[in-house]
This record gives sequence, C-alpha cells and structure tokens, in this order.
Amino acid sequence: MSLSLFSLEGRIALVTGSGQGIGLALAEGLSEAGAHVVLNGRDRAKLERAAQAISAAGRKVSVAPFDVTDQAAVEAGVAKIEAEIGPIDILINNAGMQKRAPITEFPVEGWHELMNTNLHSVFYVTQAVTKRMVPRKRGKIVNIGSVQSELGRPTIIPYTASKGAVKMMTRGLAAELGKHNIQSNAIGPGYFATELNAALMADEAFSAWLCNRTPAGRWGETKELVGAAIFLSSAASDYVNGHLLMVDGGLTAVV
Ligand code: NDP
Repeated sequence: MSLSLFSLEGRIALVTGSGQGIGLALAEGLSEAGAHVVLNGRDRAKLERAAQAISAAGRKVSVAPFDVTDQAAVEAGVAKIEAEIGPIDILINNAGMQKRAPITEFPVEGWHELMNTNLHSVFYVTQAVTKRMVPRKRGKIVNIGSVQSELGRPTIIPYTASKGAVKMMTRGLAAELGKHNIQSNAIGPGYFATELNAALMADEAFSAWLCNRTPAGRWGETKELVGAAIFLSSAASDYVNGHLLMVDGGLTAVV
C-alpha cells in the first residue's frame, strides 16, 4: 500500500465551523495532506485569521462565511465556492454546538437552536453539496458525530438526539449515494479540549471521572482527529461507507 492513497492533492474540501476548535484542526490537517481547504463559520474576521495561518504555511485556503442553519445562505455559499474556487470533493460537516440542562428545564428555543445547528445544517449543506457531486460521480462526506450517539448521559439529551440522527443520516447517505461513488462516513469524537467543553474542562470532578473512565486516561487533543479525517476523505477509504469511526481514547469500548 502506498501513502499516496492518503493524498488529498488537487481536492477541494469544505469544512463547516472551521474558524476554531475541531473544525480548524481538521482543516489544517486536510491542507497538510494537500487539499485546498475552504473555511466556514459565521465570523468572517475569525475565518480570515485562521486562513492566514494556513496560507503562511504555503497551503491553499479560502474562506466562505455563511450560517449553516440558513438554507438559502448555504445554497448561495456552496454555489459561490463551486463557481469561484471549484468543485467540492470533500465535505466535512463539523459545525455544531452544545447546551446543557435537565430535560424538565430545557428551553424549547434551545432545543430548536441545537437541532438547527447540529442536525438540520447537515441536511442543508449535504444536499447543496451532493446534488453537485452526484453528476460528477465522486465525493466524500465526513460527518462529525459524537460518542454521545452511543452513550446515555444526563443533561445533554437534545445533543445526544442530534448526534444519533447524524449517525443514522450517515448510514442513509451511504446507502443512497454509494452507487454514485460518494462515500459517507462519520467520526465520533470523545471529549476534546475546545471552547464547546469550556465548562466541563473547568469541572474537576467531571475531568477526574472522564480520565478514570477513558482507557487513554486523558482528554483528547484536536490534532488526534486529523488521521481519521484524512483517511475518510481520501482514496484510502474508497470501500468504507456508512461507518462511524470512534476517536475517543477507548471511551466507548468500556462498559
Ligand atoms: P467549538 O464550539 O469550538 O466550534 C464550533 C464551530 O462551529 C465554531 O467554529 C462555530 O463558528 C461553528 N458554528 C456554530 N454554529 C454555526 C453556524 N450556525 N453556522 C456556521 N458555523 C457555525 O466546538 P468543537 O470544535 O468542539 O466542535 C466541533 C464539532 O465537533 C461539533 O459538531 C461538536 O458537536 C463535535 N464534537 C465535539 C466534541 C468535543 O469534545 N469538543 C466531542 C464530540 C463531538 P462561529 O461561532 O464563528 O460561527
């Protein structure tokens, strides 16, 4: 087997929510593997700062600010990328959010905001991208799911529900688009040190529970998700379809 199987040279990759955190780490990793990465988020200035760092390293990068919960903005944003940069070969559906509260107190607006951000956005962006990929008979979809689709944890029921739905969307996409040579897979991150987990990281009791329960004995670092993303974005995974690849330090392996 050759390492060139993992090369993303000549590929264009849209990574949603890539101005910071996991999305930025994935965009940096895909660009190192040769892809022209397109950074997305709602804050143009943040995206431009991130893009500068990638381009300073001599890699190809563009920014595409749009809100992934706004279907019209998604369609316009994807059309603009395809017209001005080129055909999207790889879509990483990463944008997401977390909200914590017991189900008895969870605000209805919070439920809708979370579902719009974590689930409906995946439909909007995937539809806009795959309708262009299908005629080209080539593409990779990588959805960022979560270990939470496999676990029951208190106070994050809407998040768990959204990630469970993303996992099943991934399987459905595999079933429907595989015949067009489009592979759809998901990554299930464990607990990573990002802004999304700021409150949990400050909670010593939680951190102790996590480190004790996770065979790796620690939080994940965002760069540890890059290998899975390159694999699922490259020719190395051409016969892998509908899979949820856990990158969780072994967390979901433990009862
Ligand atoms: P962060 O909060 O650090 O980053 C979230 C990113 O999503 C930001 O770049 C934000 O950009 C973007 N975003 C949020 N809403 C929108 C929107 N409506 N339109 C466009 N972009 C948006 O989170 P993480 O990096 O930790 O999380 C990334 C993904 O990984 C999420 O899907 C999350 O559920 C998942 N995940 C994270 C884990 C972790 O431990 N951190 C574990 C398992 C899964 P901006 O606000 O500038 O628009």
